[in-house]
Amino acid sequence: MADILETEMPLDRARREFRSDLLDAGLLLGTSVPGVYGRSAVFEAILTGLDRVLTEMASPLQATALRFPPVYPRADFERTDYIASFPDLSGVVSSFERGDREHRELLAAREQGEAWDGWLDPSDVVLTNAICHPLYATLEGRLPEGGGVFDIFGYGFRHEPSLDPMRMQSFRMHEFVYVGDPDGAQLYRDTWLDRAVETLVSLGLAVETVAANDPFFGRAGKMLISSQLRENLKIELVVPIYGDLADATAIASANCQRDHLTAAFGIRTSDGNVAHASCLAFGMERTTLALLRTHGLDVETWPLDVRARLGL
Ligand code: AMP
Ligand code: ZN
Repeated sequence: MADILETEMPLDRARREFRSDLLDAGLLLGTSVPGVYGRSAVFEAILTGLDRVLTEMASPLQATALRFPPVYPRADFERTDYIASFPDLSGVVSSFERGDREHRELLAAREQGEAWDGWLDPSDVVLTNAICHPLYATLEGRLPEGGGVFDIFGYGFRHEPSLDPMRMQSFRMHEFVYVGDPDGAQLYRDTWLDRAVETLVSLGLAVETVAANDPFFGRAGKMLISSQLRENLKIELVVPIYGDLADATAIASANCQRDHLTAAFGIRTSDGNVAHASCLAFGMERTTLALLRTHGLDVETWPLDVRARLGL
C-alpha cells in the first residue's frame, strides 16, 4: 500500500484526498464499490436547496414536471441506440426467471462459493442512463402547437466506477427539456445555457463553458465525437475542482439532440415534421460537490448570501 501511495500521481492523490475528506466529514458514506455512496442530511440539504434555486430559475418556462423511476423499459432503451454508443456505461437488470431445479443449482453453486449469476436472465427493464430518455416514449405522435417543455428529476446510472467523488455510478440529474421545432430547440439551448451559467455563478461557482462531447464507445464512436464537436451540439458548464491537475469538471450540460431521439420515438411537431429536442441537464451531486469544494466542507462557514439562497 505504501508503495502505491508513493508512486501515486498528483491528480489521483488530489481525488483520493477530496474523497477521504468528504467521508471523514460524514458528507458522503462510502460503500465497497467505487462511485456508490450514501448521502448525509447536510449533503441532502445542500442538494435540495440547489434544486429549489434551479426550479426558480426555470419557472418562466412553465415546464410540465414529470418523474420517472430509475428503471425503464428495455424496449424503449433499444430505440435510443444507447447500447450502440455507450455499451460500457449501460446497466441491464437481471433476475431469476427459471424453475425450482435451476434455483437448486444456483443455491448449490452459491454454497460452493461459485458464481451464481449465470442462472439470472436479463429482465425487461434497464437502469436509466439519461433521465430524459423515458420522457420520449411518452411523446410519440404529434406535439401540441409550440411544442413542450418538461422538467425531469431523478437518478441515473452510469457504469463508470472511479475513486474520484465527482464521478459516481448512481447520481441525480435535473433536466429541463424542450421538444418542438428545430429553430425553437436551438434558441432554447442557447438562451437557457446563459441563464444556467448566471444562476451557478450567483452561487459563487467559477463556471466556464466549453464545447464537449459524449464518450461514444470504440472506433465508430470517434466519428460521432468529432461531428458532435464540429456542430457544437454539446456545451458543458465546468468548474475547476483539482486546480491545474485536471481539466475543469462538468457540473451541467446544454445539449442539442437535433432529431436523434425524436425521430426514433416518432415525435412530430403540430405541422407534421419530425420534432427536434434540446435539454439542459444539471448534475445534482456534482454541483453540490462543486459548492463544497468552493466554499469548504463546513456549511456554517459559507458566505451568508449563498447560505440564504440555498436555505441553509
Ligand atoms: P450528460 O448527460 O453526460 O451531459 O450529464 C449531465 C450531467 O450529469 C453532467 O454535466 C454531470 O454534472 C452529471 N454527471 C454525468 N456523469 C456523472 C457521473 N459519473 N457522476 C456524477 N455526475 C455525473
Ligand atoms: Zn437530456
